Amino acid sequence: MSKEAPAAKRISSLFMILAFLMLVLSMAALYQIFEAYNRTKTLDPASIMLSASAIVLSIYILSMMRGKPIKLGFETPEVSTVLQCTSCDYKNVRRFQRGDYIFKDAGPCPKCNGRMLISSIYREVIEKSK
Ligand SMILES: [Zn+2]
Repeated sequence: MSKEAPAAKRISSLFMILAFLMLVLSMAALYQIFEAYNRTKTLDPASIMLSASAIVLSIYILSMMRGKPIKLGFETPEVSTVLQCTSCDYKNVRRFQRGDYIFKDAGPCPKCNGRMLISSIYREVIEKSK
């Protein structure tokens, strides 16, 4: 039903691949540093720090990715249900509830005690600006 979910999933798995690549590359870099140390007996603390922090960062990204998909600035679309009285002009909008359908009886009208029906069900995309 939701078109946003697969896209978000695809992006987070792409990030996961990138983080994994970063992890592999930084581990390879760290290995090369120790290889060089074995040969020359000199250690480059700057490159060790760099690859170590890259490893930490990629592990952090990977652990974050596993928990929840990345948010792209918008929430999953809200579905609203419009209830309308058949006798007066009373209208009420509430969140969609499981089992809602158009022309479903929605109980008595709080204004005139007439019959209320679901007149429409719609999705609204709420964009979040941070
Ligand atoms: Zn009414």
